[in-house]
Amino acid sequence: MDTDVLVLGAGLAGLACARALRDRGYAVQVLEAADDVGGRVRSERVDGFTVDRGFQVLNPAYPAVRRLVDVDALDLRAMFAGVLVRRADRLAVLADPRREPAHLLATLRSGYTDVRELLALAAWAAPALGPVRALLGRADAARGATLRGYGADGALRHEVLEPFLAGVIAEDDGSTSTTFTRLVLRSFALGTPGVPAAGMGAVPRQLAQGLDVATDVRVERVEPTSGGHRVRTTAGDRTARAVVVATDPRTAAELAGLPAPRMKGLVTHWFATDEAPSDLGATAVDGRRAGPVVNAAVMTAAAPSYAPPGQHLVQATCLLGPRHPEPASGDVRRHAGEIFGVGTSGWREVARTAVPDALPAQPPPLHVRHAVALGGGLFVCGDHVDTASQQGALVSGRRAARAVHRRLGPA
Ligand SMILES: Cc1cc2nc3c(=O)[nH]c(=O)nc-3n(C[C@H](O)[C@H](O)[C@H](O)COP(=O)(O)OP(=O)(O)OC[C@H]3O[C@@H](n4cnc5c(N)ncnc54)[C@H](O)[C@@H]3O)c2cc1C
Repeated sequence: MDTDVLVLGAGLAGLACARALRDRGYAVQVLEAADDVGGRVRSERVDGFTVDRGFQVLNPAYPAVRRLVDVDALDLRAMFAGVLVRRADRLAVLADPRREPAHLLATLRSGYTDVRELLALAAWAAPALGPVRALLGRADAARGATLRGYGADGALRHEVLEPFLAGVIAEDDGSTSTTFTRLVLRSFALGTPGVPAAGMGAVPRQLAQGLDVATDVRVERVEPTSGGHRVRTTAGDRTARAVVVATDPRTAAELAGLPAPRMKGLVTHWFATDEAPSDLGATAVDGRRAGPVVNAAVMTAAAPSYAPPGQHLVQATCLLGPRHPEPASGDVRRHAGEIFGVGTSGWREVARTAVPDALPAQPPPLHVRHAVALGGGLFVCGDHVDTASQQGALVSGRRAARAVHRRLGPA
């Protein structure tokens, strides 16, 4: 055997798995098809701007992030703890009063303070703040149905919550599991997400430190042998006592014969401008839903390092999928400008990042712990076997490492 364990894929799940196995003393090699680590969490430099693989933030409150990531070393730049909402007459601010007390008055004047709706939404969201075990044990149904059931059917839901969630869970039809939606809201309640000063790609780069990762190696097949597996790759064959398939869900389905989950897509347009359309590094949504953009944000208001001095970087994200064909660049720019209420003649598109397979769908009932041991020394990890998130990917990697350890015994 060439090594104890081969991990196929250097996304967050594969890297978390490889680290845990290395820490237990196994010889581990990670094979990655792309030219760098990160998978769906990568950054590139374009004309001096930092462009992430879609608008994505790191929540320092994720338990797996607290455990595995040295957040201080990332120089995390916090986003604004609230949202901007385009209304017909103005851009409203809704902020978390605990973290953004200076915006309390603006929030009270936002126009979204109908007491009856606030109480209905608070009752619907309340389980998000209790113990996770209790949350996971509740009956689950589609978000749209449970929100209606709680009587939350007004402007706060339709102009703020739903547009905000559309960008976060890549879905605008209310079909996602209520339990998953509450888990997402829980993470926002417990932590203020941000981006590393050097871009989101700094997260997997940190996790990959000290690991044996071979990039530009695409795995084509995994075959059982006596005592382990042979992995056929574009760079020749490798053998190992155990193999962990840590690829994206679609490739995992091909390599390991698993059912392929339905995936949801996102496309982000990145614009350079001399004048920031807002001083707040906030997620901005359109309460009128009058265009393709589900959220926009001035990245440089949170992380000035995302642009060369004197310039600003604005992201605008849209859904991508069968019901959401890719919008024209001009429409995205016009709509993003409308959301902030500014002209966009000075905006220049520096990049466009389309991720058709951004997130596995999470329909009800949510099933958070799919099996990671597939039998015969083959294992799987990735956000598709846990929750569709960085947290889910990291947790699944550690679960797979524990399962490998149970099979192989002490290193
Ligand atoms: C635009 C966008 C925004 C997001 N926003 C958030 C957010 O704000 N918060 C959050 O928690 N989550 C967010 N997510 C989700 C999060 O990024 C993912 O859940 C997580 O990164 C998945 O990690 P993974 O390791 O499971 O899979 P991946 O990142 O897909 O990693 C799989 C790896 O396998 C490699 N690979 C594939 N095929 C092969 C092969 N044949 N051989 C070798 N290697 C192969 C791939 O190149 C890749 O590196 C977002 C995702 C996207 C796309």
